Amino acid sequence: MKKLALHWKILIGMVFGILFGLLMTNIDGGSSFVGDWIKPFGTIFVKLLKLIAVPLIVASLVKGISDLKDISKFKNIGFRTMVIYVGTTVVAITIGLLLVNVVQPGEGISEETITRLTETYANSGGVQAKIAEANKQQSTAPLQFLIDMVPDNAVKAMGNNKAMLQVIFFTIFLGISMLLIGEKKSKPLKDFFDSLNEVVLKMVDIIMLSAPYAVFALLANVVVSSNDPDLLLALLKYSLTVVGGLVLMIVFYMIILRVFTKKNPFWFLQKISPAQLLAFSTSSSAATLPVTMERVEEHVGVDKEVSSFVLPVGATINMDGTSLYQAVAAVFIAQALSFDLTFGDQLTIILTALLASIGSAAVPGAGMVMLVIVLESIGFPSDKLAIGLALIFAVDRPLDMCRTIINVTGDATVSTIVAKSVGKLGKPNPKNWDDHYEDVK
Ligand code: ASP
Repeated sequence: MKKLALHWKILIGMVFGILFGLLMTNIDGGSSFVGDWIKPFGTIFVKLLKLIAVPLIVASLVKGISDLKDISKFKNIGFRTMVIYVGTTVVAITIGLLLVNVVQPGEGISEETITRLTETYANSGGVQAKIAEANKQQSTAPLQFLIDMVPDNAVKAMGNNKAMLQVIFFTIFLGISMLLIGEKKSKPLKDFFDSLNEVVLKMVDIIMLSAPYAVFALLANVVVSSNDPDLLLALLKYSLTVVGGLVLMIVFYMIILRVFTKKNPFWFLQKISPAQLLAFSTSSSAATLPVTMERVEEHVGVDKEVSSFVLPVGATINMDGTSLYQAVAAVFIAQALSFDLTFGDQLTIILTALLASIGSAAVPGAGMVMLVIVLESIGFPSDKLAIGLALIFAVDRPLDMCRTIINVTGDATVSTIVAKSVGKLGKPNPKNWDDHYEDVK
């Protein structure tokens, strides 16, 4: 397997995982075998990736900022990033809305299917938990998100994977203060973080050695825990609408990548494909972040000064796949339950889906929580919320896997475009886990 490119190895792992999962669903006790003996290897892999996320963000962001030499450059990068992130998200939501209005997947759903889905999921723990979580998030003050961004304890923030924005806030503060004390005085700290950064990237390489086996475990588990295939079929039109929209988003990214960077889109897709495959397998852009950073920096050639800021921020606030899905799902539910939507409602969806995708956590299933908020913003009756979510619950996991690919691809594309626009897109410089192995063997 040595010569095979990483993305091929991961793909092979995925295919075998799916086949193994299918086989196990048909064997007595197969599902619990996968749960007990296979799934843990996938879980360990995801934990390893999350383990290095905070050190990687801190080290690479400090390095990125202190390499800048002047702060105005950072403002420039920050401003461009935010504008492009909001722009791509609005495009995603608009594509979603256009498709769902043209295809109308909710119109064809029979009463019988609605009843079946409602009976199966409306009162299930999963749906009720999403509604409860959405209510919790909604009852906070309007500026709460700003308050939440500022940590009151840097160490505690770094100890919490969910506090990514707090870590970014602290690190930017640290990096800028390092610039302000001058190069000479900040050198020891800079050298420390430079070295930490190299080490953590090496850890990514080492962890990725197990990726083909880990995706096998992750996908086998997804297959054995998936729902009744009949229900999946009933929601086929809806699922295809979401997937169609996501594919259009890839086309959109490739066009803007070509126009703004002149890079070959297929070359780019191939370079970031391991990150995309992991996004699909883990359903989490946060867990994928270390790999996205490694691919974009070493294999695409984006300078750390850009990627170290654009990617972690993107993983937290830029979720184009999620916002597209929220637009399609909200309108689908309204169509299926005969809730009329005005043009104004659709505009409200654009705005709330934009805010919701910024607020969604980069973890599996987060998009569905925010969907509740989108539905409530258009006046969807709260007593029907559980029924609405029940309609789409069966296919949430596979669609989550697909939309997470888009979330990650969007971040990678935007970081490359921003890098090009500030003259920070250089030559790729891939490193292997064993570059210095001979010296220490
Ligand atoms: N799983 C998605 C992510 O991590 C979020 C979501 O759409 O649920 O990017």
